[in-house]
Amino acid sequence: MGKFCNILIMARKKIGIDLDTTLNNLNDEWLDRYNLDYNDNLKQWDCWNVADCVKPECGKKIFNYLKEPNFFFKLSIRKNAVEVIDFLMEYFDIYIVTAYLPETCLDKVNWVKKFIPKINSENIIFINNKSLLDLDFLIDDGPHNIQTFNPLKTAIIYDMPYNHFLDYDAFQTWDRVSNWNEIKQLFEEKYIIKESELVSRDKLLTFLQQ
Ligand SMILES: [Mg+2]
Repeated sequence: MGKFCNILIMARKKIGIDLDTTLNNLNDEWLDRYNLDYNDNLKQWDCWNVADCVKPECGKKIFNYLKEPNFFFKLSIRKNAVEVIDFLMEYFDIYIVTAYLPETCLDKVNWVKKFIPKINSENIIFINNKSLLDLDFLIDDGPHNIQTFNPLKTAIIYDMPYNHFLDYDAFQTWDRVSNWNEIKQLFEEKYIIKESELVSRDKLLTFLQQ
């Protein structure tokens, strides 16, 4: 039995990485535009629906910025994200999973091509219900995506004030990270199986035939 416990078959698992705010600086750019237009000084928001946190005269109009041509293409990428994704690609299949808003799709694809050309466009998934995807890991700042992700798999919260309430869910434990170096550290310490711990499929078959 001891021998069996040590045997693991190599299999590439799938990581879904959210685009907006997890990978790009959407919230910073969004607030800069809003603060300028509405003479406000909002630095961050702690309710998921940002329309409830901006001035009433703005309200749902805050979402109009997202539909402007080139808005998403001009966003910057979070520090160290490219290097960490490069590292994760050695061990996992990487998918960009992002909300579907028709006006933004081409911008988002071009943004990924610009910053992370190693990611094939076919691995960019536009979907509003991410729980439908068969992923092993999901890295996301959206509380609704974290809460609905398969509880048998691993959801990793990208820290934002509006997702802090998740920590008080007595039935769930999630990993929480606040930058891309922490994502790398988490996978190194918890989720990457070192080659020395692996037994190849051929070795396993040989062992089982003995
Ligand atoms: Mg997001």
